[in-house]
Amino acid sequence: MTGERGLRVLVAGGAGFIGSHLVDALLAEGARVTCLDSLLTGRQANLDHLRREARFTFVEADLVDPLPRLPRFDRIFNLACAASPPHYQANPVHTMMTSVLGTHRLLERARADGARFLQASTSEVYGDPDVHPQRESYWGNVNPTGPRACYDEGKRAAEALAFDFERVHGTDVRVARIFNTYGPRMRSDDGRVVSNVICQALAGLDITIYGDGTQTRSFCYASDLVDGLMRLMGRDASPGGPVNLGNPNELTIGDLAERVVRLTGTASRVVARPLPVDDPRRRKPDITRARELLGWAPAVALEEGLEATIAWFSREIAPEPVLRME
Ligand code: UDP
Repeated sequence: MTGERGLRVLVAGGAGFIGSHLVDALLAEGARVTCLDSLLTGRQANLDHLRREARFTFVEADLVDPLPRLPRFDRIFNLACAASPPHYQANPVHTMMTSVLGTHRLLERARADGARFLQASTSEVYGDPDVHPQRESYWGNVNPTGPRACYDEGKRAAEALAFDFERVHGTDVRVARIFNTYGPRMRSDDGRVVSNVICQALAGLDITIYGDGTQTRSFCYASDLVDGLMRLMGRDASPGGPVNLGNPNELTIGDLAERVVRLTGTASRVVARPLPVDDPRRRKPDITRARELLGWAPAVALEEGLEATIAWFSREIAPEPVLRME
């Protein structure tokens, strides 16, 4: 229990994959939750089960535009931004503006309301890291002019804005650097490796590995990540500085694909595709700070999380049942 009961909470990006799980967790703890989402990559379907929930309100709005009229909040989570490379690169200017303008608008709201503010940042602030695993003290190796810059630099600017609001206005800010996360409610067209490989395996299509598959990532299950976000926001004192949230269990992308092949029993072949520009070689969080400050560590093992995600996608992409006349 992190003490959300009765609090008025805004979740920007609350219709998205992580945002919608966060909304569920907040409601389960008794908060009153307003979700603000442009539905650009978020989906109403992720919130359908809350239609009759009296403590939940949905507002469709894009953070690039001025905020709609909203009540006062005690806590504001900013998870609004397309997060998968194909989606955030589809409209890079909008991606950058969502992080810069959007975060600024929400910080102004937090300041006016005296609310706590949590910014969802990303492991992408470390770029293609020269330091491994990544600690929060590492400044990163980001290409500021490449195709990933709209996301990476947008999120870096959002972090800078948050800490400037803390220094200049005394706003209570928390910044979570979220590493690769997976689980139910990912989009099948998300374009990221876990959703791609699972959907390809389930459909019997070729499994696409970019490059030689030796690049590494560390995948955190959605419920673990949300638990970390709740603890970071729920903690009384601001931690002062960003906190990595991710699973330190690092594996190669080739290994991930093999596991999905085994768990699904698919006959799909694994095929190589070109490595995207600026694709980081290695990524693994150092979560010492999260352990010490929040008493947090991921609890869901990769196989267990993959099984749950595979089961969810099997239902999600199953063909509609055909109604037959007798
Ligand atoms: N990747 C892959 N096949 C895919 C999608 C992604 O091999 O169908 C690779 C991608 O090049 C990267 C890793 O998997 O090296 C993780 O990519 P993802 O887009 O999931 O996340 P990010 O690059 O943002 O960590």
